[in-house]
Amino acid sequence: MTMAEQHYLRSYKPFVLEEVKKSLLIIGDLSGNCASCNALGINAYDTKACPECGTVFKYIASRRLETHPSERFQLARRLAEKRPDLLLIDYQDYQKAAGAKAAKDFFSL
Ligand SMILES: [Zn+2]
Repeated sequence: MTMAEQHYLRSYKPFVLEEVKKSLLIIGDLSGNCASCNALGINAYDTKACPECGTVFKYIASRRLETHPSERFQLARRLAEKRPDLLLIDYQDYQKAAGAKAAKDFFSL
């Protein structure tokens, strides 16, 4: 049996930002941080839950996608192989949504 070649395509679906933030692991060049409590130095490849706040990660976003856009799909493949339990979301999308929400919360006070 031959496996059809797989490609990574970005897709869009609605998320509740607070839900994502509660279980998001953000990875940088070397290690990751917990979006919920900002704990640093988390190994993105083998950490199921935040060592500080205990949140179980469901989503992952990478800062490296912004700084190394040409590696985008390589990184997506590596993450899909190493962390099939996590859904890769776009860090820039998340940041934009979080910024927009923060502004809205601020102005509705
Ligand atoms: Zn945490």
